Amino acid sequence: MTPNTDHNQTLFERAKRVIPGGVNSPVRAFKAVGGTPRFVKRAQGAYFWDANDQRYIDYIGSWGPMILGHGHPAVVKAVQDAVLEGFSYGAPTEREVELAEEILKVMPSMDMVRLVSSGTEAAMSAIRLARGATGRSKIIKFEGCYHGHADALLVKAGSGLATFGHATSAGVPPEVVQHTLVLEYNHIAQLEEAFALHGRELSCVMIEPIAGNMNFVRASVPFIKRCRELCTEYGALFIFDEVMTGFRVALGGAQSVYARDIPGFEPDITVMGKVIGGGMPLAAFGAKRGIMEHLAPLGGVYQAGTLSGNPVATACGLATLREIKKPGFYAELSRKAQLLTTGLKAAADAAGVPFSADSEGGMFGFFLFKDLPQNYAKVMTTNNQRFNTLFHGLLDRGVYVAPALYEAGFISAAHTEADIAETVAAAAEVFKLL
Ligand SMILES: *Cc1c(COP(=O)(O)O)cnc(C)c1O
Repeated sequence: MTPNTDHNQTLFERAKRVIPGGVNSPVRAFKAVGGTPRFVKRAQGAYFWDANDQRYIDYIGSWGPMILGHGHPAVVKAVQDAVLEGFSYGAPTEREVELAEEILKVMPSMDMVRLVSSGTEAAMSAIRLARGATGRSKIIKFEGCYHGHADALLVKAGSGLATFGHATSAGVPPEVVQHTLVLEYNHIAQLEEAFALHGRELSCVMIEPIAGNMNFVRASVPFIKRCRELCTEYGALFIFDEVMTGFRVALGGAQSVYARDIPGFEPDITVMGKVIGGGMPLAAFGAKRGIMEHLAPLGGVYQAGTLSGNPVATACGLATLREIKKPGFYAELSRKAQLLTTGLKAAADAAGVPFSADSEGGMFGFFLFKDLPQNYAKVMTTNNQRFNTLFHGLLDRGVYVAPALYEAGFISAAHTEADIAETVAAAAEVFKLL
């Protein structure tokens, strides 16, 4: 493509003059894979079209929210109706109550939720709530888990269990991350040691139960079980960050998946986002009544938002929720995700490319090595060059997957078996190049 006919390139040059890196969220810039980001003109169903009117099968779906595909008629109608009644009031609405009730019906670990506008805000508020409710400062997070960009969570492991984290971003003072302990995902012995050392000072353990920000890595059942036991024993709160997995891996979220193996399992606080807003800025955090009553205006933990519970966003979220609650929705979504991962695996095998893949509900991941990884360090051993060849090979063939090897993939109800077959055929060609 020559620059003067490539409208993506032209837009990217224009964008870089007025927006840092040309993007409003870093991963969109294609920095990890090289090349020109696709500027989206419009999207419908399982596809989007870029500035050159090139069509792509979309396996990102806005990084998870578009579980019904783009422009689902019932959702579009709900948003159109809502817009006519006003964009934002800064006063409570019936729709917020209705959305809260609908969420609580399918997530029994929570008695109350508070609606906010982004996953970052929800995760940050959940940490403040955990600290306020326990009167403790320290938190545990795990390497490779992303919980949004609140200061205290932009942190990597220190040199040992006695030293707390180092900031991973400039602009975060060391004092702000000094209470954050970063541990290895799925490492039970290390978790036990950390609790033995710091258990009584811990406000919470926060985890992505099925991590989607290091591609796709499941927390093992024994690991989740041990986290739960230790939190209970030491009086720390167990926070499930289900911003990605909530309404994505199952109607009841990842917590319902773990409850199949751990009878009665519940986290103390749940953080949600992405699917909950159906593509509009909406997120939430919730817990049992006794914890949530620490929030202002009832309690002393301050939290607020001008656009929180926005009437258009809640209309979009409610309409999305109505669709995903229909019987058989997740069975069909899972079937399609498995069709995709088994198809990719067969194509890789045929080309002699080491490959593994996994999925839960409508979320999936694949790796260019034989065995599924258990932690971040393993994920990051992926050969960058091979991943980039795969990424660009797929992109050139009209298949859009995450432009970084450490991101999960998402399939929607709008993806057809023909879309999946087209994707597998494209991958089969690219695997031969690896
Ligand atoms: C996306 C994500 C967030 C941050 O949500 P934003 O809406 O991007 O602020 C937090 N936690 C997890 C697990 C996520 O996937």
